[in-house]
Amino acid sequence: MENDIILQFNNVFFTYDEETEETQSAEPHWAVKGVSLDVHKGDYIAVLGHNGSGKSTLAKLSNAILIPDKGQVLVNGIPTTDEDKTMEIRQHVGMVFQNPDNQIVATIVEEDVAFGPENLGLKPEKIRKRVDDALHAVGMYEFREKEPHKLSGGQKQRVAIAGIIAMQPECIVLDESTAMLDPKGRKEVMATIESLHNDLGMAVVTITHNMDEAVLADKVVVMEKGEILFSGTPREVFKNVEELRRVGLDVPQSTLLAMKLGLKDEVLTPEECAEAILKDWKK
Ligand code: ADP
Ligand code: MG
Repeated sequence: MENDIILQFNNVFFTYDEETEETQSAEPHWAVKGVSLDVHKGDYIAVLGHNGSGKSTLAKLSNAILIPDKGQVLVNGIPTTDEDKTMEIRQHVGMVFQNPDNQIVATIVEEDVAFGPENLGLKPEKIRKRVDDALHAVGMYEFREKEPHKLSGGQKQRVAIAGIIAMQPECIVLDESTAMLDPKGRKEVMATIESLHNDLGMAVVTITHNMDEAVLADKVVVMEKGEILFSGTPREVFKNVEELRRVGLDVPQSTLLAMKLGLKDEVLTPEECAEAILKDWKK
């Protein structure tokens, strides 16, 4: 199934250090250090790790915002070092950042969403269709003629996501895109991300501190000091409660509660926790 890989990291290293005569011989501070990771069509991957562990650097390496110092990042087989293909790479892998205010460029919602497709040089009717479809996909169609600055944080972030999906990428990378939102906005954006994955079949890589978000993913990757510390299903990864807490990470509250209650079952969600309690109680 090699050919269904959209995004591939092959032993990737990246440093922000400038190379000077003094630093040349010394080992640099690697922000990303020997990371290998495959993202297949339709994958849903959550990336966890405390501040400074290299998550944003990893995100920026995924669509040629940053270029590896060692190793290779391939987007649909194209190395991100190929400068002539940067536009094509960004069409395949779209990125949503933390602050929606920094991502919205136009003064009307639909114009903002049209910005990317216009740059692709598509015909007006094609652009119209892509914009409408993208706005429907994020549930913001009825706001198409509104001014973005009058929207809530969650609505703005959904407009930013619409701008990315109007490019029809196979993969979308979200760098803490729910972190600045209130609980309602976070819920809206989480539901949107779920539907990109479930309804549009898009591969999703979501960088998050939110455990409720992480348990929804098919695969969880934990970063620590630029390296991948754990990678596996949420169940496999959240088993490592002690080590996760050692690197400053939470585990889902239900997992922690089940552990404190001494329940044997591996628990991820409140529902599973309730079931485990009942099962234990009936013994
Ligand atoms: P995270 O997103 O997990 O918080 P980052 O990828 O932003 O981590 O940072 C990884 C490492 O790279 C940290 O040591 C951080 O201080 C460093 N770093 C990040 N951005 C820059 C930058 N623009 N210049 C210099 N160092 C940076
Ligand atoms: Mg970051």
